[in-house]
Amino acid sequence: MKTFQNFINGKWVDAKSGQTFENRNPANWDEILGTFPKSGQEDVDEAVRSAQAAFEKWRLFPAPKRGDILRRVGDIMAARKEELARQMTKEMGKVLAETRGDVQEGIDTAYYAASEGRRLFGRTVPSELPNKFNMAIRVPVGVAGVVTPWNFPMAIPTWKIFPALLCGNTVVFKPASDTPASATSLVEILLEAGIPEGVINIVHGGGGDVGMAIVSHPDVDLVSFTGSTLVGKKISEVASATLKRVSLELGGKNAQLVMDDADLDLALEGVVWGAFGTTGQRCTATSRLVLHEKIHDKFLSMLVERTAKLKLGNGLQQGVEVGPCINQGQQTTVQKYVEIGIEEGATMVTGGEIPKGTDLEKGWFYKPTVFADVKPHYRIAKEEIFGPVLSVIKTRSLGEGVKILNDTIYGLSSSVYTSDINNAYRAIRDIKAGITYINAPTIGAEAHMPFGGVKQTGNGHREGGWTVYDFFTEWKTVYIDYSGGLQRAQIDNYE
Ligand code: NAP
Ligand code: MG
Repeated sequence: MKTFQNFINGKWVDAKSGQTFENRNPANWDEILGTFPKSGQEDVDEAVRSAQAAFEKWRLFPAPKRGDILRRVGDIMAARKEELARQMTKEMGKVLAETRGDVQEGIDTAYYAASEGRRLFGRTVPSELPNKFNMAIRVPVGVAGVVTPWNFPMAIPTWKIFPALLCGNTVVFKPASDTPASATSLVEILLEAGIPEGVINIVHGGGGDVGMAIVSHPDVDLVSFTGSTLVGKKISEVASATLKRVSLELGGKNAQLVMDDADLDLALEGVVWGAFGTTGQRCTATSRLVLHEKIHDKFLSMLVERTAKLKLGNGLQQGVEVGPCINQGQQTTVQKYVEIGIEEGATMVTGGEIPKGTDLEKGWFYKPTVFADVKPHYRIAKEEIFGPVLSVIKTRSLGEGVKILNDTIYGLSSSVYTSDINNAYRAIRDIKAGITYINAPTIGAEAHMPFGGVKQTGNGHREGGWTVYDFFTEWKTVYIDYSGGLQRAQIDNYE
């Protein structure tokens, strides 16, 4: 069995405590991928010191050169794409096509970051006084704490780490305990591409220990977190003690609305992909389906037929469409919500159980599940389940459908299927979400577009695209007076 380590201050090291934890395959729990250091405060302290020291050099390294390193990162990821995808499928279960996509998102993010190295635009603005020059430039923030979830083991860390580095920050990275191997591969690639010592540090271990130690550390200047709303709130509280900058990308309860004028075959493909891709374990997963009453019964029967045929299994096998839940805890949560749905009065029309009597018993599988007759106030319509469970709600109109869609504490992704352009634009105007798709599922973000949500999905920042570069830089305003005399703004011009 392989033993993995932390990377701190330019060296691969064990946790100070000497303790380790195992990483297993959720499709076959007997398969152990390796052991990882179970780190704590002391390891984080050292990583932060390392990142702080490295910052003084890295911030002076020209941004286009930082971009050149990230371009090499993209090249290496592209060359190793298949191997990285296979490792990821073994580590967290999603099917190979999806783990390939996850790596590709990292590659895209690397190339975007590389090109940003030659932009990072500031502004020059006229001064109100003669012989004076005004500009605002971007400067790095300092040490970035990066804490990530397991559902996009490569893509989400790259969304944070690549822009952070490109802007001249140094990084202390704590990946999810369920996906430490993919995270380690990412760090290896950064080093191979030429990231200098101390600039990137990875500390493995639990959220409450390593994650909290990073977030609360007085010398960590900003935190970029993706995960649950519950943990996000805790982080927000703890980080406020040092007033550090915090970006939170949190939960979702995303809905797809299908109007009576929609292309139903297209809408069906969309909802099956959106609800059961990644076993429903995406922050943007479709967990509610709002159907216009005129097509409700027809569409529901199409959906049940299609869902029941989905092939579960090990994501490395060809033809498998749905992998396992990430771990036993998640499988239990799904089962609990299925029981809640039944108690609330919803009708379970397919799925609703752990598959039995097959080789699937070695993993944390759950049959793709659809509930009909769901009322908007049911818990299964309100709470994030993060598994293969879809709640179907009936609506009479676009207006009512959008209201149902908005009736949640979250606001990440949304989708409307319609062939009426007026409906589409009204929905875009009225939906309260960070992302709206028209005639496409709730999942499918592109790396060069802003990504994030409203309400309790986050705290207003956006990852992806050009917007993430605002988070990882500070604005510095510069005035250069070349008049040779004292000039007083707001005063001299107006006397
Ligand atoms: P999670 O339990 O919140 O964990 C996310 C990360 O935070 C993990 O690295 C975790 O470490 C760490 N962590 C846990 N408790 C912590 C604490 N007290 N202080 C600091 N760090 C802590 O979420 P998850 O179960 O991994 O991921 C699923 C959730 O993420 C869902 O709610 C999903 O919607 C959300 N998500 C959101 C987005 C988005 O962009 N909006 C994208 C993907 C996922 P351990 O792994 O060691 O526990
Ligand atoms: Mg695992």
